[in-house]
Amino acid sequence: MPKQVAEMLVENATMVLSDVKLVRLRWPVGYSPEFRTGQFITVYWPDTPSYKRAYSVCSCVEDKGYFEIGVKRDGKMGTRIVDWAKVGDKMLVLPPAGRFLPEFGPGKRMVCLAGGSGVTPFRAFAREAALRQLSTPLTILYSVRTPADVIFNDELHELAEANRNLHFRVTCTRLTPEDPWKGRRGRINAAWIKEQIVDLPNTVFYACGPTVMVEESERLLVHELGVAKENIRVEKWG
Ligand SMILES: Cc1cc2nc3c(=O)[nH]c(=O)nc-3n(C[C@H](O)[C@H](O)[C@H](O)COP(=O)(O)OP(=O)(O)OC[C@H]3O[C@@H](n4cnc5c(N)ncnc54)[C@H](O)[C@@H]3O)c2cc1C
Repeated sequence: MPKQVAEMLVENATMVLSDVKLVRLRWPVGYSPEFRTGQFITVYWPDTPSYKRAYSVCSCVEDKGYFEIGVKRDGKMGTRIVDWAKVGDKMLVLPPAGRFLPEFGPGKRMVCLAGGSGVTPFRAFAREAALRQLSTPLTILYSVRTPADVIFNDELHELAEANRNLHFRVTCTRLTPEDPWKGRRGRINAAWIKEQIVDLPNTVFYACGPTVMVEESERLLVHELGVAKENIRVEKWG
């Protein structure tokens, strides 16, 4: 059966960094998707229906009536959206899909590893935890090149300040020694992940971003930290 396509209006299109745009797609009247926080949507433009690309929804189930996506200027679709998507445009959207879902169940803990724009689904996790006032501990370890590349910096720090179960930690990988950044430097490594682990058997680990970063994260988790594969969820962006 062909997937049901919905035409959505670009209700908001805001540059949140010099190369990242937050786009809000308004659901059409009567649209009621089976959407779960952490899923992605596949979008395309009306003039190029054969060119479709997936974007993680960075809003959550509690954000009713629209999907938000955070898009980086990269490749054909990423560049077109960042440089050209504007309020009033129409985009076509396939139903939400994917199994990269937060597990907020009792006794569970989540440790999320993000690379670059791979933080987008974790913004959705953090929003759901905040809006539902959930007590599940959620730690986001976020690797970026420089502090200027942190997407949703203010929002994620504010959510973490308001929710003592949420921890948002950043590491920068491409700083010169002279850079004044006082935070962590270098890639996400096993030692840093280990510091976040309180109850290994009940912790679900998530990794999202470029394939190389996600595969390295999986290697660290399985081979250096002994995490069971069934407790790891990954989303590779290619
Ligand atoms: C499940 C899922 C969720 C995703 N969520 C997001 C998200 O939330 N935000 C986001 O920004 N992206 C996300 N992506 C990636 C997104 O789908 C697109 O792949 C991305 O925007 C790039 O657009 P494109 O595929 O049209 O690029 P393409 O033009 O197909 O290029 C693909 C890659 O190749 C590189 N490339 C292209 N031409 C050359 C060349 N000549 N030399 C060297 N390199 C080249 C591009 O820089 C790009 O990195 C997600 C992907 C998946 C699978």
